[in-house]
Amino acid sequence: MKSNINLSRRKAIVYGAGLLGTGSLVAWLEKPTLADNSTAINNEDRKLPLTPDQALKKLMAGNDRFVENKRNYPDQDSKRLKEIAQGQNPFVAILGCADSRVPSEIIFDQGLGDIFNVRVAGNISTIEDVASEEYAVAVLNTPLLMVLGHQKCGAVDAAIKGGNPPGMIGSLVFAISPAVKASEGLPGDRLTNAIVANIKLQVSRLKASSLISNAIKEGKLKIVGAYYHLDSGKVSLID
Ligand SMILES: [Zn+2]
Repeated sequence: MKSNINLSRRKAIVYGAGLLGTGSLVAWLEKPTLADNSTAINNEDRKLPLTPDQALKKLMAGNDRFVENKRNYPDQDSKRLKEIAQGQNPFVAILGCADSRVPSEIIFDQGLGDIFNVRVAGNISTIEDVASEEYAVAVLNTPLLMVLGHQKCGAVDAAIKGGNPPGMIGSLVFAISPAVKASEGLPGDRLTNAIVANIKLQVSRLKASSLISNAIKEGKLKIVGAYYHLDSGKVSLID
């Protein structure tokens, strides 16, 4: 179990520090090619520069509206479409499951350009997922990262059942298995415990990125784990 986590952390550190370490990041960001192609809106152009806490408040308020069936459907008109064609400045990056029942913009009542979505079965932090979140933080100045797991996650269930799943599904099981082992023997529902442990595991893997951990230390970024209840639509933060 431990070796899997360490392997992942090592990989994340190698990629995070090696390719996007603090010093090299500055040089990389200043490259003309990136500046020409960058889709980030400059800070001075941001209409709503949010702090990490403000971003979390805005996100959870949207979930409250969804649960209460009082959605505002913000940022979904043609004006917003034209605005974000000039650049994006999402206030949150979510590493969520690919499950069709957990679409971020709907369950958080947000719109175009609001959420930088990385979705993969089991909301796992593979190298590419970590890199995507690093991009949101370093290039798009996103102040909030969320790992969003959910009730009855099939990927976590597959990891509990083990065996030899077909195709490449075993790679998902491999990434989740440390959480399955860590939650073994806990009181309560086996699957729910493993899902919560997996959320915490993936948060820790993201934090192993030096780029992400530095942004947290500097107060520019907050990272949270959260659990989506399929039954009610409610998102609960995980400590
Ligand atoms: Zn899932």
